[in-house]
Amino acid sequence: MSGQSKLSFDGGWEYAPAPQDISHIQLEKKYGLFIDGDFVAPESGNYFETINPATEKPLAKVAAANGADVDKAVRAARKAFDGPWSKMSAADRGKYIYRIARMLQERSREFAVIESLDGGKPIRESRDIDIPLSAAHFFYYAGWADKLQYAFPGREAQALGVAGQIIPWNFPLLMAAWKIAPALACGNTVVLKPAETTPLTALKLAELVRDADLPPGVVNIVTGAGDTGTALVEHDDVNKIAFTGSTAVGRLIQQRLAGTAKKYTLELGGKAANIIFADAAIDQAVEGIVNGIFFNQGHVCCAGSRLLVQEAVADEVIQKLKDRMETLIVGDPLDKNTDIGAINSAAQHKRIDEYLKLGQEEGAEMYQSSRPVPASGYWCRPTLFTGVSQSNRIVQEEIFGPVLAIQTFRTMEEGVTKANNTPYGLSGGIWTDKGAKIFKMTRAIRAGVIWANTFNKFDPTSPFGGYKESGVGREGGLHGLSAYLSLEPRR
Ligand code: NAD
Repeated sequence: MSGQSKLSFDGGWEYAPAPQDISHIQLEKKYGLFIDGDFVAPESGNYFETINPATEKPLAKVAAANGADVDKAVRAARKAFDGPWSKMSAADRGKYIYRIARMLQERSREFAVIESLDGGKPIRESRDIDIPLSAAHFFYYAGWADKLQYAFPGREAQALGVAGQIIPWNFPLLMAAWKIAPALACGNTVVLKPAETTPLTALKLAELVRDADLPPGVVNIVTGAGDTGTALVEHDDVNKIAFTGSTAVGRLIQQRLAGTAKKYTLELGGKAANIIFADAAIDQAVEGIVNGIFFNQGHVCCAGSRLLVQEAVADEVIQKLKDRMETLIVGDPLDKNTDIGAINSAAQHKRIDEYLKLGQEEGAEMYQSSRPVPASGYWCRPTLFTGVSQSNRIVQEEIFGPVLAIQTFRTMEEGVTKANNTPYGLSGGIWTDKGAKIFKMTRAIRAGVIWANTFNKFDPTSPFGGYKESGVGREGGLHGLSAYLSLEPRR
């Protein structure tokens, strides 16, 4: 039966393995820092390993940038900003960004595989979501480069200068695209620091930037951990900090930037609620919830990690969710059948495990699918908790894993109160067949993005960002441009 689907003992269908070919992937053994148009050895002399979380085996050694390295990168970015990049016509700047977008499309399969190897996410997701959306961001912002004066009527749109950008590990290339594309379109130069557990697609992007012949210094990539990020935040010659990551680190950065002239945007954590009304299309809603919390291992800032379900349909929804969880395949990220890949790192795996224990200690009832997981690597079965109360930590805190906390509500008001009762306000989802209810709910819920009868849909034209502890500022769309410009009234 090899190579074919077969009927399993419990009567369900098992898929035959469908492995992604990785023979075309070329990774260096050791990566330097990308500064001033070339890869250079770090002044620090230090390297660290990035590992494949599905196998726990090292993929490559990556440079750990110290303060001197960051300083070198910022100087290169300043030189490029004062030199060729700001002297170039905006239309020509746009052409470079279009070129990056096209090259990314051409090399999309290579980027998708590396994203899955380094980050643990299923190839289906990196292939169909991360890489196409990254290219779409470059295409979208390339189009704005020579239209900035029309984007903000009555304003003089001026680049800020050097942008320091720090990104997390859950959507490594996409977060790099969110940051680099608008910054370049507005005429800035950048120093980007990827997360220490997922540096490889950013380094591949550096190769692509070099192949696209961008003037040296316009894009610089410095790898390293939190202290590299700190050096970038504290550098005197950086004009803007764009950070995506946890609320704890975002708060630290905000404190460091207080009283400086640096502009900043912070895209932080979330604890989104999906709210299902009794009149919703239940099967569709269940699929949306599965998509919102279990895919990408729940490593999504706007993940629907809470479910609020109207009491009349709670039993039906929970049963359907459990049935669907049993069909989700947890395993090899490079298998095209895989639904849930590897947890990104040992540290994150430990953190999720601690929350699973905590949820049970808090008195909630835990349910996990019974499907097997591989012996090595970091894995978490899809998990749900029922019998939780609003004050439980698993309801209030971001777990960043495939873990769903379920509560019920009776009235719309109760649904809104529970949905808003967390420190976060990044996203949410409403499931109902009544348009009026959608409008009422979206006005009442304090979240930056609310999806109706769908979840986790992204588009470069649409702004994204949070309320409360989910962040400051917006990325995406026109709002994403204004974050990289000074907009004085035009005289
Ligand atoms: P993290 O805050 O630990 O790290 C994010 C980045 O900041 C990494 O590159 C890290 O090296 C760097 N960093 C760590 N300490 C630093 C410091 N003191 N100064 C400067 N930089 C520092 O977050 P993470 O665990 O990598 O990512 C998960 C978090 O990101 C979650 O909270 C998630 O919700 C959030 N996130 C938010 C969005 C959004 O758009 N709102 C998108 C994706 C992820």
